[in-house]
Amino acid sequence: MKIAFIGLGNMGGGMAANLVKAGHEVRAFDLVETALDRARENGCETFGAVQEAVAGVDAVVSMLPNGAIVKNVYTADVIGHAPASALLLDCSTIDVATAREVAALAADAGHEMVDAPVSGGIAAANGGTLTFMVGGTDAAFERAKVVLEPMAKAVIHAGAIGAGQVAKMCNNMLLAIHMIGTCEALKLAEKNGLDMQMFYEISSKATGYNWSLNDYTPAPGIGATSPADNDYQGGFASALMLKDLRLAMAAAEASGANVALGKHAAEIYEAFNEAGGGGKDFGAIFTTL
Ligand code: NAD
Repeated sequence: MKIAFIGLGNMGGGMAANLVKAGHEVRAFDLVETALDRARENGCETFGAVQEAVAGVDAVVSMLPNGAIVKNVYTADVIGHAPASALLLDCSTIDVATAREVAALAADAGHEMVDAPVSGGIAAANGGTLTFMVGGTDAAFERAKVVLEPMAKAVIHAGAIGAGQVAKMCNNMLLAIHMIGTCEALKLAEKNGLDMQMFYEISSKATGYNWSLNDYTPAPGIGATSPADNDYQGGFASALMLKDLRLAMAAAEASGANVALGKHAAEIYEAFNEAGGGGKDFGAIFTTL
């Protein structure tokens, strides 16, 4: 299959490489020269403009920073330039409203489009083990699955267009809340004379069980190996968690959903980012307690 790939950053670079490994012809574009160099090393053909990359393709995959950029790239350079038969797959994490708006514009031009944001970080992007949450029609999902599978551990049809973004923001709001709760519980145990490792042994087998505690323990040297054991380098940056929380808060406001804990989590990550913690893994909230 001929696939255009737009946005070859931390995530997109490895994803495009996995499409090449699966035997696809990948036509890559990014604004940054070093990203294009890496794409060429990984077997992609690179282009100087999106419009050139999408010419004659069967599918377009994008992995871009935010909704404004996604809308701009699709409306200016993809819709009307890729063949109408090309399936469009946006894997970026963006707001639900923009995902639906771009898909509607694409549909007007005869394209099927899916939103297909991912769970899993840079290691999963490189390793081809991302989980994709896909929003779109049944027919579009069946076509999308074929494109996404070489990059995936799981490809899940969440529902109609936009449903992938809804799943992603809800998942990450929950993740932020149980990460902060896990940090607080570990610290509370320690401050009250209970060794944190002992608390981990107990709570990871009791009703406090959760992914942040069991699989990604945010205290250095305690429980599961995580970025906490490497000074919170690598992992999932707090700045990206804050981005996802802002998307969730905007959707909560627009839909009138009550998200008191999500709002508090957003405030906590907001403060951590303002204090310079944006580049650290999101478990570094532990260091602020
Ligand atoms: P990144 O900043 O490393 O990569 C984005 C790439 O897009 C960059 O190479 C940039 O040059 C390129 N770009 C920006 N504007 C462009 C344009 N107009 N045309 C072409 N290329 C353009 O970001 P990332 O970490 O790869 O994240 C990409 C998306 O994936 C984001 O929406 C993010 O929220 C989501 N995501 C990231 C992670 C993670 O752990 N990094 C995990 C899950 C989801």
